[in-house]
Amino acid sequence: MKNFLKKHWSKILIGTVILALFVAIPFIFKPSEEVGAINSYKMTLDYNDENKTISCQEEVLYYNNSSNAFSSIFFHLYPNAFREGATVKVVSSNNFKQAFPNGESYGHIEITSVTERKGDQLEFKIGGEDENILEIVLPEPLYPDESVTVVISFSSILPNANHRYGYGENTINIGNFYPIACVYEDGKGFFTKPYHSNGDPFYSEVANYEVELTVPSKFVVASSGTRQTSSQDDSNVTYNFSGEKIRDFCLVLSEKFEVASCTLGSVTVNYYGYSGDENLQEKADFAGKCVETYNKLFGAYPYSCLNVVKANFVHGGMEYPNLVLISDSVSNEDYNYVIAHEIAHQWWYGVVGTNQYEHAWIDEGLAEYSTYLFFQENPEYGLRYNNMISNALSNYKFFVQVYERVNGQVDTSMDRPLDQFATEPEYVQLTYTKGVLLFDNLRETLGEKKFMKALCDLYKEYAYKNINSAELIATFSSSTGRNLENLIKSWINGTVVIA
Ligand SMILES: [Zn+2]
Repeated sequence: MKNFLKKHWSKILIGTVILALFVAIPFIFKPSEEVGAINSYKMTLDYNDENKTISCQEEVLYYNNSSNAFSSIFFHLYPNAFREGATVKVVSSNNFKQAFPNGESYGHIEITSVTERKGDQLEFKIGGEDENILEIVLPEPLYPDESVTVVISFSSILPNANHRYGYGENTINIGNFYPIACVYEDGKGFFTKPYHSNGDPFYSEVANYEVELTVPSKFVVASSGTRQTSSQDDSNVTYNFSGEKIRDFCLVLSEKFEVASCTLGSVTVNYYGYSGDENLQEKADFAGKCVETYNKLFGAYPYSCLNVVKANFVHGGMEYPNLVLISDSVSNEDYNYVIAHEIAHQWWYGVVGTNQYEHAWIDEGLAEYSTYLFFQENPEYGLRYNNMISNALSNYKFFVQVYERVNGQVDTSMDRPLDQFATEPEYVQLTYTKGVLLFDNLRETLGEKKFMKALCDLYKEYAYKNINSAELIATFSSSTGRNLENLIKSWINGTVVIA
């Protein structure tokens, strides 16, 4: 996600520092096709525009990749965070008006049945801390390396909200809308934390998707995956999408979309703007430039399509696999910046995943730092790396000073769960800004070549997996031949002194 607080890069002065060019990487790594047994989701969904409702049948082929037997399996029900009476908040009070311009509005998801593939009903419970979890009780234990197929039927209603899940004036954002499997970690169990207004409260594993969507034919549809076919009757159109090895699936509908595209080898980059926008092709080309740059810096984007989608959205932008949202409220001068940040998440979140609830600094720190690298590599856009770093440093120091003055103390640890950041600015400064400063410090310490190799190794080693802080430290250390544990830990634990 891109969250704008006091950061206005337009104010960054144009510097005169001549920066060293990156050492060219002769071979562009592409993540392997082999990922082992992963879950599959087959969804058939209908969107009713009059009622703003979705009805869906979702068939999940679920693998137990752990070393324990499961008597139940668990799924997140994120739309319930939007229901009346939810205890978690989907936005901070500062962003309430931007998210709900017409006043508070509610949505939810209702599970109507859960069956086995052959049709027998399965027992299920709605639970978790905030009605955010679907537990499916299995008729017999699911042992390691076994799979089970469950069919979940649900109906849901979208709130009137400029959010990941909601309809606004220009677009209908259908993100985090279906029951998605909770990640199981040996020793920790299923991850079942509810939504949070800070950050992107999500954690999932890559899976294969087949999605059939029926919508009124007035809509243009942007999606994760790639579009396979479409067929039309009098008033509706049905699309079939498929996605392989992606960790979520998002759809955005609009009557206003107009699309411009560019091609980079086997990858098609589409920009969905609004009809009448004069810069459609320019934005598609800019997005293509981002993909080209990150391909060169970290390794190849392994999917055939990327959709950059203008949408009504409360924050600056939001990442989903193969699809990013760019808020239509972002100013012209910040628009490219947000595109570059969200596209960087295709590498850091999409391919290399994280528990974004527990370790937000990893994907946000890396995406934000990659954005700096993008502008360093492409000086024609007028942002200078060294200026961006000094700006980040002053923002961070200002934050520390203010918090110390107001609260008497400031917790500068980075590796905290989202609900452990007292405010949104604290979350943003410690995950995005301090994340950038940490990676800049590693680059200074290791030198350009070793640092960039470590990022490539991270991409190679953790493609289609999830990485935590200890694994990131281990990869950086083994890639560079230096023990970086104390250095990186001093940053994330908050003991480093930043002068
Ligand atoms: Zn982000």
